[in-house]
Amino acid sequence: MDYFNYENGELMVENVSLARIAAEVGAPAYVYSRAAFVGRLKAFEAAFADVDHLVCYSVKVNANLSLLRLAAAGGYGADIVSGGELFKALRADFRPERIVFSGVGKTAREMAEALEAGILMFNVESEEELEVLAKTAADKNKRARVALRVNPDVDPKTHPYIATGLSGSKFGISHKEAPAVYARAAASPALEAAGVACHIGSQLTDAAPFADAAARLRGLTENLRAAGVDLKYMDMGGGLGIAYREGETPPTPAEYAARIKNVVDGLGVKLILEPGRFVAGNSGVLLATVLYNKQNGAKRFVVTDCAMNDLIRPSLYGAWHDIVPVRKSGAPPATVDVVGPVCESGDFMGKDRPLQPLVAGDLLAVKGAGAYGFAMSSNYNARPRAVEVLVDGDNFKIIKPRETYEDLVRGE
Ligand SMILES: *Cc1c(COP(=O)(O)O)cnc(C)c1O
Repeated sequence: MDYFNYENGELMVENVSLARIAAEVGAPAYVYSRAAFVGRLKAFEAAFADVDHLVCYSVKVNANLSLLRLAAAGGYGADIVSGGELFKALRADFRPERIVFSGVGKTAREMAEALEAGILMFNVESEEELEVLAKTAADKNKRARVALRVNPDVDPKTHPYIATGLSGSKFGISHKEAPAVYARAAASPALEAAGVACHIGSQLTDAAPFADAAARLRGLTENLRAAGVDLKYMDMGGGLGIAYREGETPPTPAEYAARIKNVVDGLGVKLILEPGRFVAGNSGVLLATVLYNKQNGAKRFVVTDCAMNDLIRPSLYGAWHDIVPVRKSGAPPATVDVVGPVCESGDFMGKDRPLQPLVAGDLLAVKGAGAYGFAMSSNYNARPRAVEVLVDGDNFKIIKPRETYEDLVRGE
């Protein structure tokens, strides 16, 4: 179900027109659909309903408290990667025993905070990290539940910056070295070897690598059991890809789940899943206003008030986002680059796009912007961060106001 549709040539989010939102809150604006966000969480959850599992929303993808609260209220868990995300997850009322802590560089302070909160599990990525966790837990008279994040060495066939499960990446512990590290964990009174984890990459549009990774984790779990280490959890991370271009058909949650369930059948572990992009990506758009048209040589540019500081994915990964007019004119399209005001040639939202003729004040929607959009935004060029809006049926509300100039100098 898509909650971003045209009605009489006007792009709507649920039952609210984006033009109305722009008139009231301005642009750039991130606009999310509550129904889309909750619906995708439910669709993902439903795909695993017949096995023991826990869906932990990946907080880093979009950490607006209002969205986190929707996930927490739905009974979902949270996948966090920092002390700041722990703080936000607890503020959003996620239950601590449904929080898993991932990340390659947790500090002792962050570990202590998570132990204090009583989270479900630490996904540990190196032997040295394991030592620090053991010491931190012992100092607090606590026992930390641990999963080792294993690097299963499978190729997710995605952008190199978001491929994380190949040998040679900074992530995880080689699956060959994992048994020795488990032995150390099992020997420590401050640690409980509770599970095995992986996260092979993001924006996977083929489900086969997930099955390969699950098979690696299954083999490891069986070997460890034979050696007396009984793991309860298998955390498959996130990574399910989404359609960024109209017409793309990434695997559905059901297809993705079937691949994994098939591999772990009969193993007797609780599956942990950490979807992020799948939940938030197509639940939001970024609204932009056209400022100018210009032509340099053969190239035509549409300059908007949205820039790489608002949405960095095109600049960082060469990522594609569909860009559509908020009001369709029906006039024949021309090919343009949609760019922002930032002083970098890499500052673009889209290149060589067929778009109807646009004039100053026209609105554009950059689609698929709900994941890694606002979350990766910055103040580069002293640009205040965009307002965030949540639509629910016929209504919308601001869930984070646009930053002000005063925000730009706070603390300096
Ligand atoms: C980023 C991340 C996720 C979420 O990935 P998506 O591709 O957005 O689903 C899940 N788990 C871990 C450990 C991550 O680093």
